[in-house]
Amino acid sequence: MSDSSEQSSYLVLENYIGGKFVPCRTHIDSYDPSIGQVYCRVPDSGEDEVEAAVAAAKEAFPDWSARSPQQRAQVLTKLADLLEANLEEFAQAESRDQGKTVTFARTTDIPRAANNFRFFASSVLHHTTDCSQMDHMGCLNYTVRCPVGVAGLISPWNLPLYLLTWKIAPAIAAGNTVVAKPSEMTSVTAWMMCKLMQQAGVPPGVVNIVFGTGQRAGDALVGHPDVPLISFTGSTATAQRITERSAPYCKKLSLELGGKNPAIIFADANLDQCIETTVRSSFSNQGEICLCTSRIYVERSIYSEFLERFVAAAKKWKTGVPSDPSNNNGALISKEHLDRVRTFVALAKSEGGIVHCGEGVDQLDLPERNASGYFMPPTIISGISDSSRVMQEEIFGPVTCVSPFDTEDEAISKGNGVRYGLSATVWSRDVGKVHRVARRIQAGLVWTNCWLVRDLNLPFGGMKNSGVGREGGKDSYHFFTEVKSITIQH
Ligand code: NAD
Repeated sequence: MSDSSEQSSYLVLENYIGGKFVPCRTHIDSYDPSIGQVYCRVPDSGEDEVEAAVAAAKEAFPDWSARSPQQRAQVLTKLADLLEANLEEFAQAESRDQGKTVTFARTTDIPRAANNFRFFASSVLHHTTDCSQMDHMGCLNYTVRCPVGVAGLISPWNLPLYLLTWKIAPAIAAGNTVVAKPSEMTSVTAWMMCKLMQQAGVPPGVVNIVFGTGQRAGDALVGHPDVPLISFTGSTATAQRITERSAPYCKKLSLELGGKNPAIIFADANLDQCIETTVRSSFSNQGEICLCTSRIYVERSIYSEFLERFVAAAKKWKTGVPSDPSNNNGALISKEHLDRVRTFVALAKSEGGIVHCGEGVDQLDLPERNASGYFMPPTIISGISDSSRVMQEEIFGPVTCVSPFDTEDEAISKGNGVRYGLSATVWSRDVGKVHRVARRIQAGLVWTNCWLVRDLNLPFGGMKNSGVGREGGKDSYHFFTEVKSITIQH
C-alpha cells in the first residue's frame, strides 16, 4: 500500500462514483506481469468509498429503471460502438495489465466486452412474461419482471473487461444500477471504460466502479444492506466467504466459480481436430480460463499415439513477450500465482508423474527486459493418480494431465470424480456416444468435438463446486430482475 502524496510516474487510477472520477487516499501496487514490475496504482477502497458508490447508485435507480428497454439499449449500443472504436488501445492495456498476449486481448477479450453490451442491448428487447387463465374463477394471472435495485458485481483477473461487462451489461439493460469491483490485479481497462461511460451517455450513478481488494472493498460491497444482489465470478473459496457474509441479508447470489474440466477422448475421435483444439483448450490465455481443460482422459488403444502427438503440438505453442504476435501465451498474472502453479508440477514429480514438456523440461528464450516476468511454458503431465491434488484441484495455469481409460463408464466416472462441474469436452464421431456421455457428465457446459463455442443466449455456469445459478440471455435477465405474479379477477 502507498500514500497518494507520493510523486511517481505510475498510472494512478481513481474510483468512478456518481459519474465522476474520485481520487482515493491510499493505493495498491499493480504489476506488469511481463516484466515483474509495478506500473500502476489502484485505489485501495474500503467502506467509505463503497458507501458513496451505493448512495450514487440508489439515487440513479428511479430514473434509470423508469426508462424503456429501448432507451437503455441505445446507451448500451453506444458503449459497444465506443469500445470497438478504441479496441486497440484497450487490447494493449489489457495485455499489459494481465500478462496475456495482445493478440488474445485484441481478438477475444475486447471484442467480447463490446459484444456483451451489444448482445444485452438486443436481448433485453425480446423478453416476454407468462400469462395464465382461470376462467372458472374469472381470473387472469400474469407475471411482471422488475429490476432489483443496486446490483453488486465482483469480477476476477483472468478475463478482466470481458467478465466485468458480462455482468454490467445485463444488469443495467434490465434497469438496475450497479456498483462494480474488478480484481485489484487487473483494474485498468475498467477504469478506461469509465471515460467511455460519460461519452455513451450513461447517466451519473448508473455504473459506479470501486477499485480495491476483496478483503476491503469486496467485503464492504457484499455486506452492504442496500445491495440486494451480488453477481460474483472468481474462486470457490471466495464464493464460500461471500455466501456466509451475505446470508444475514438474504441476498440473491449468482456464483460463477472454478473448474477442473475433463476432456474425454474416444478412439474414434478425429485426432487432428481433437489435438489442435485440446492444445488450445488446455493452454489458451496461459491456462487462465475457468473453462480450460486440465484433465485429459484418452481411450487406451490410442493413448500412446495421442500423448506423443499432443506433446509435439504443445511444444509448438509459444510462450513469450505478450506484444509479439508469434507468441500464443504471455505471462501469468503474478509471482505468487506462478509459484503456486509450479508447486503443482513439483508435487506431480514427487508423486512419480512424468513431465513431458514445459516446466523444468523446456527453457524459455526471453529478452533481458522480460527476465523477471512470470512466464511458464505449456506443461503436460502423465502418470498421476486420480486422487492426487494435481488431478483434484484447480491449477489455473498452463498445466494439463493425461491419463488412459478403458470403458465409457470408466471415462464418465473419472470425468465426474472431482468436486467441480464447470465444463467438459467429449471427442468421438459416434453420435449416440457423444449424446450419451454429454448427458452423464456432471458439468454445466459440455462441448463435443469443439471447445469454447458460445451462444450467449444459452445458460452459462457450473454445477457442484463450480457455481450457483446461470448467466446468459434469459438467465441473466431472470437473475437481474424480480418476478411478480399478478392476479386480476374480472
Ligand atoms: P478470487 O476469488 O480470488 O477473486 C475474484 C474477485 O473477488 C476479485 O475481484 C477479488 O478482489 C474479490 N474478492 C476476494 N475476496 C473477496 C471477499 N472476501 N469478498 C468479496 N470479494 C472478494 O478469484 P481470482 O483469483 O481473481 O480468479 C480466478 C478464479 O476465478 C478461478 O478459480 C477461476 O476458475 C474463476 N473463474 C470462474 C469463471 C466462471 O465463469 N465460472 C470465470 C473466470 C474465472
